[in-house]
Amino acid sequence: MNEDLAKRLRFCTTLPSLPAIALKIIDLANNPSTDLDTLCDHIAYDPALSAKILKIANSPLYKSRRSATNLRQAVSLLGTHTVIVISLSFSLTDSLVKNTGNLPQFDNHLFWRRSIASALACRALGEKLKKTYLDDLFLVGLLQEIGILVFCAIMPEEYAPVFLSTNDHDTLLNKERETFGAGHDELGYTLLKQWHLPDYIALACLSGHGQPEPKTIEPTLQACAATSRYLADYFLTPHAPEKLIKLLQAARAWLDIDETTLVEVIDIMKEGLNTVEDLFDITIHQSSEISGILSAAKELLTIHSLSKVKELEEKSYRDGLTGAYNRGFFDESLKREFLLSKQHQLPITIAMIDLDHFKRINDTYGHIAGDGILVSVTRTILGQIRQDDTLCRYGGEEFALILPGTTLADSRQITQRLKEAIAAISYHSENNSTISITASIGVASYMQDITQFKQPEDLVKAADSALYTAKNEGRNQIIEWHNA
Ligand code: GH3
Ligand code: MG
Ligand code: MG
Repeated sequence: MNEDLAKRLRFCTTLPSLPAIALKIIDLANNPSTDLDTLCDHIAYDPALSAKILKIANSPLYKSRRSATNLRQAVSLLGTHTVIVISLSFSLTDSLVKNTGNLPQFDNHLFWRRSIASALACRALGEKLKKTYLDDLFLVGLLQEIGILVFCAIMPEEYAPVFLSTNDHDTLLNKERETFGAGHDELGYTLLKQWHLPDYIALACLSGHGQPEPKTIEPTLQACAATSRYLADYFLTPHAPEKLIKLLQAARAWLDIDETTLVEVIDIMKEGLNTVEDLFDITIHQSSEISGILSAAKELLTIHSLSKVKELEEKSYRDGLTGAYNRGFFDESLKREFLLSKQHQLPITIAMIDLDHFKRINDTYGHIAGDGILVSVTRTILGQIRQDDTLCRYGGEEFALILPGTTLADSRQITQRLKEAIAAISYHSENNSTISITASIGVASYMQDITQFKQPEDLVKAADSALYTAKNEGRNQIIEWHNA
């Protein structure tokens, strides 16, 4: 993490400090010889916490036949490790819920709904996969997005536009990294370390934001944490097909589990929902919604899973590697924008951007570096265009940009800036090479010849032929279409 962020975090006064009980419990968590008596003594000081431990020991989350009537029984029933981890979940959440939400439009309630849903999801995944460390999973699920609160606390004004620009978590993470040099995963990790949380918890929170390693697919803390982020998103917004697709992809990539297993996991979440809502005093779903939502989820995931998912996948709008819009989205957007231009005689310009000698890059530095450059180029372009402009990955290393309301003359500034920004990228590959890249750009604008451009495809063809000329004339340049 860069020094400026680290400093801001160290000297931040708006971050809630931990309550004494949480500090003590972290202390106990870090001490392997903590015994039942010591633990009981400390928890007994906090009546609210004691009541919660008792409640949880008797809840369906712990399917014990014995019931506990006092704290000591509860603690011995659950075991010290479980009690420590549960106590941490409560004491941290409790102080944070009351003391956060520095952004003007930051929805504190939504943040905690999502965190608790992700805790529930993470635990349910563990239960389905027969893991023994269910409480650790719960805690990791709960805390893994805590870095978002850190951003809100240390730089509310700078963070607000980034935070509010997307409702997709992965996009948010990328934007944070781009804008601030670190994502909320890193900030959260730093905070948890600052609080002296056990290493494996802090690390699982961090690494659940990474990418799965194909060789190590096994149900670990990290893999459950990663999958639970998508499961929580889906659980909260079950009608958004994008979320379902992402969930299915994450579940496959991280844990190698299929739709049927996911339905079972959602069922486990449903079982635990009331207990968790009650304990954290937060409503994740209105009870009238919940059964409807879950049966919809089941239906989507099972009965129609194959055909539905295919259909949804086709409808999904993003390219998996770069996060830019995909070709399908391009075709639809262009059709729409083109029609608007035609009806109202408005300018619209499109640019086809093709990377130069990309094959050579792959051949010299390998495909992984090639992929990394595609991601870099996408970010660079996105950093230069307006919200109304649409960037799509048109094919392998070719991008298409729709600039609605932009005349050919106005587009010159943009494309020039793009060409320079791409040429300025210096990409550091894994084996320490620094790679540069250039792009050729072909441009066509509707107003250049409205009689010629009858269909959206005509505009694409024109920009493509200009791109072809740019390649022929030596690459790394912008050529505008001209009526021959
Ligand atoms: P030109 O300047 O004429 O455009 O040369 P070029 O090498 O870029 O063009 P060509 O179309 O011959 O090759 C494109 C290359 O892009 C070939 C393909 O391996 C590579 N490519 C396409 N998609 C991907 C991808 O997703 N990842 C990586 N790493 N490479 C890709
Ligand atoms: Mg190329
Ligand atoms: Mg190409």
